[in-house]
Amino acid sequence: MNKSNSDTPVKFKPDYKWPKEGTEIICPKKNEPLQLQKDLPHYYGKPWWCHHCQWQFTSEDLKSKDFCQLK
Ligand SMILES: [Zn+2]
Repeated sequence: MNKSNSDTPVKFKPDYKWPKEGTEIICPKKNEPLQLQKDLPHYYGKPWWCHHCQWQFTSEDLKSKDFCQLK
């Protein structure tokens, strides 16, 4: 792979920091665990998914007090 070839349209996976497996985050709205997605090559979303808020979060997002209240 030639990384310096900028003419090639390659879609890069966003460089999200992935949490350790087994990490648990509780949704402050519903008091239930968020779902930790698998870090698969074809998955371009963020690591955390909250069913209740219907929203994705990165580990950075979780540092904010507003997470799960973004909408
Ligand atoms: Zn939530």
